Amino acid sequence: MLERLKQEVCDQNLELPRAGLVVGSGGNVSGRDPETGLVVIKPSGVKFSKLTPETMVVVDLDGNIVEGEMKPSVDTGIHLYIYRHREDVLGIAHTHSPYATSFAARGERIPAVLTPITHMIGRDVPCSRYATPGEVDTGQAIIEAAQGGWAVLVKAHGVFTMGKSATEATNIAMYLEEAAFTTHLAMLHGPVEELSQEEIDRCYNWFRKNYGQSGGKKVNA
Ligand SMILES: [Zn+2]
Repeated sequence: MLERLKQEVCDQNLELPRAGLVVGSGGNVSGRDPETGLVVIKPSGVKFSKLTPETMVVVDLDGNIVEGEMKPSVDTGIHLYIYRHREDVLGIAHTHSPYATSFAARGERIPAVLTPITHMIGRDVPCSRYATPGEVDTGQAIIEAAQGGWAVLVKAHGVFTMGKSATEATNIAMYLEEAAFTTHLAMLHGPVEELSQEEIDRCYNWFRKNYGQSGGKKVNA
């Protein structure tokens, strides 16, 4: 069942080590099927090199295993908490990518100083309060801090990104780490100037209209 979604979720999990966002078996991506509401997620403790679409685990929103031989990711409860509280979310990625997580270690947000990331998420990257690892407290902290947005740092933990698909959530995780790295370098030189919310909104709407092959007419073509 859900063969295409399993393939997508597997592919996107494999992007995490390729992009240098994870080590060992840490980090995970899931996707929700909009029709059945079922969630496909990475199995727990399995190295990325061993992942195949068949090893993905299918669970319902209450965490019952619907299909799969293995135990789902230890973070499944957090993913499911987010899906239960955000109907617009169809994909989630979680990493401890180092530059973004260095902001989380300090309990600080990543300011909106670069257009590539604000194109994608339309705001800064907020940092949640400290949350005890596990489904309810971490899930609540993410939902509170996200305020309907697509990316959150969890204080003293790492990064959770959300999207309209597993692919979109993973893309945001990659661009977020790049933005955290560059923002970190910029901050070494002194204070940074944050983009105004008006300009961020313009970037976000422009990107939504024009990006990709199905976007609007080509600019500067
Ligand atoms: Zn984690």
